[in-house]
Amino acid sequence: MALPKLAPAPAAQDKLRALGILALNGMFDEMDAVGVLRYAATEVLPGDLAIVSSFGADSAVLLHMVSQVDPSLPVYFLETGKHFAETLDYVETLKQHLGLTNVVAIHPASSDIARFDPQGDLWETDPDSCCFIRKTEPLEPVTEMFGGWVTGRKRYQTKERGVLPHFELTSDDRIKVNPLAYFSDADVIEYRQQHNLPEHPLYARGYRSIGCAPCTSIVSEGEDPRAGRWRGLNKKECGIHYDFNGAIAKPMTAVRHTLWKDGAFIADPFKAWEEGTDPSTARYVHVPLQVFLADRDAFLANPHPLGLLVTPGEKVEDVENDLGRFASIAIRFPAFTDGRGYSTARLLAERYRYSGEVRAIGDVLQDQIPLMRRCGINAFVVEHEPTRRALIENRLPEVALFYQPVGLTEVPAGTRPFLRRAH
Ligand code: SF4
Repeated sequence: MALPKLAPAPAAQDKLRALGILALNGMFDEMDAVGVLRYAATEVLPGDLAIVSSFGADSAVLLHMVSQVDPSLPVYFLETGKHFAETLDYVETLKQHLGLTNVVAIHPASSDIARFDPQGDLWETDPDSCCFIRKTEPLEPVTEMFGGWVTGRKRYQTKERGVLPHFELTSDDRIKVNPLAYFSDADVIEYRQQHNLPEHPLYARGYRSIGCAPCTSIVSEGEDPRAGRWRGLNKKECGIHYDFNGAIAKPMTAVRHTLWKDGAFIADPFKAWEEGTDPSTARYVHVPLQVFLADRDAFLANPHPLGLLVTPGEKVEDVENDLGRFASIAIRFPAFTDGRGYSTARLLAERYRYSGEVRAIGDVLQDQIPLMRRCGINAFVVEHEPTRRALIENRLPEVALFYQPVGLTEVPAGTRPFLRRAH
């Protein structure tokens, strides 16, 4: 029988590909985990497959299989900065024991940590955001590099994973491979003993599923092994595993990023303000200026990162003493011809020396962006396709002459010609 062979991920998801995945799922015996991994690495996605490992309590089993199939397969470890010291030691132990030659640590962006979690306690107040900046966001560029990735997830771990297949097609048209889908806790222990694999140093102390230190606790006899993760919170997954043919997983990278910042379209931690949101618990939203003023005390007491939304006609002067509260200020440009947002941006930069993110939202078009930049706007939410392409291809018009100088460095046209060029 000819075995189904899938080409690396093209752009669009199609039925044939989905059918190919169904066929793949029917090819392997439930316990043929190494067979699944070998076939994925050599036939389905040769040179285009990566492993993401937490180096947790059962990671040794999957990593042993990797060492059997190809020890040079890329293994990514999310070094969130919040792991137990024992886990970091275990990374080294397993690398050496199994001869893995391509283990790569992925770190969160230091700018995100400085901006959103400077005290390192975001896990306590807002674990979803903490996982987002420490796991989801750093992993995104990696998933984009590969047509598929391997996870160590198993059906028995949670109710949500109860229907996990060996192969999944994600909605961004990548393949997730779950060789251990059908393994039980007992199978994992048996495999570990059979192959004499080193145990995570915390396993013997009652830790059954090991992630970041602040969010992991010991589980008692008979408890769901993952009950010790985010104990007491209604949270079961860190966000990187959601996507999977209608049952578990949702897009990892299918999201069309619209925030242009520091030269790239990036994931946007902020969401739009929704009427009725509780001011004391709101987080990562741009609070409309009038809404903020109406409930100023509650917003100021709120511990989460917040932004401010300024629409034409509103004055930032009204919140001048509170500007430092906002991690981001969004200025709405309702139409190409409406220039009031430029004045707001200049006030923020020149009078208030606001140093956080200032973003333009609304009708943001190619020709405006250089002018917006001059006024201190450093992030742009761009929906307009030609503008998006111009940004990606670095084709923005240059502003060479300043008839209305901005800030302290520009000189009006007609005065000192050698200083008129934009730098
Ligand atoms: S598991 Fe906890 S500490 Fe780790 S990234 Fe998520 S919330 Fe933060």
